[in-house]
Amino acid sequence: MEYILETHNLGKRYKDFKALSNFDMHIPKGSIYGLVGKNGAGKTTCIRLICGLQKPTTGTYSIYGTSNTNPQIVNVRKRMGAIIETPSIYLDMTAEDNLIEQYKIIGLPTKETKELLELVGLADTGNKKAKNFSLGMRQRLGIAISLVGNPDFLILDEPINGLDPEGIIEIRELILKLNKEHGITFLISSHYLDELSKIATNYGFVEKGKIIKEVSAEELERNCKKRIEVKVTDIKECVKYLEANKVPYEVIENNVINIYQNINISEFTITLANKNCKVTEFHEKEESLENYYINLIGGGDNV
Ligand code: ATP
Repeated sequence: MEYILETHNLGKRYKDFKALSNFDMHIPKGSIYGLVGKNGAGKTTCIRLICGLQKPTTGTYSIYGTSNTNPQIVNVRKRMGAIIETPSIYLDMTAEDNLIEQYKIIGLPTKETKELLELVGLADTGNKKAKNFSLGMRQRLGIAISLVGNPDFLILDEPINGLDPEGIIEIRELILKLNKEHGITFLISSHYLDELSKIATNYGFVEKGKIIKEVSAEELERNCKKRIEVKVTDIKECVKYLEANKVPYEVIENNVINIYQNINISEFTITLANKNCKVTEFHEKEESLENYYINLIGGGDNV
């Protein structure tokens, strides 16, 4: 697996308070990585470190394989764009002038402003100043600004905070377009797990300054899907039965298997019993994303 960003035992301490510790995160190339955690979990701190705005107290991270201890990291960072907390835009300027300004700031000749505005759906804003934009438009302008210089990795800190439903849909579609059509990898921090689940391909769950679990969207979906969990005395016989009946399943432990389809329980039990395989436990399970998350963080509050 090729990772755009990896952190290794990353830690950040503010006086006596550990905001991050042993923080290990792996962002696959081409993914939309959702960094999920409640307020104060450490998401913004992690992003500030990666963007070079603060120095880690312990540990390291690498971006495109270059360690933060390598002086080249400054150049590598040019391949990434970020919006931390709120987008940095000049409110008294038009969308296009904001982009022209950004080209000046990063020392590149101005080009592609029209294309960028088109891409984020702001091509028709003309002379309208950013102060008259909706929050959603400002967020999209922020994304256009972060795309100046053609980065292939974008970091968005809580991008849908405060947006109305229409604004949320526009940001979601923009992220998907940039990911699918332009190959941009995303790190998106959020505490809106439901919204994130509409776009994320990978997740890192943060709690008290640590990544407590990383999962792919498929893995998460499997965990939350309706299923029957059975425990049997002979897993081979059970697998044979499921294969023969074309029933989707997954062996999760030595003698425990998840079945992802309704089955005729008595027929299943009797057939296996005839093969000397006993069904010792049988549970129907279904978990919501929210429950999965709450269980993960140990029944936390304020999710
Ligand atoms: P939120 O969604 O509320 O922004 P977060 O997950 O982004 O939450 P952080 O902003 O990273 O959380 O903060 C993590 C912890 O570190 C919090 O308890 C916060 O109060 C603390 N913290 C952050 N910055 C500082 C600082 N400069 N000095 C002291 N403590 C800080």
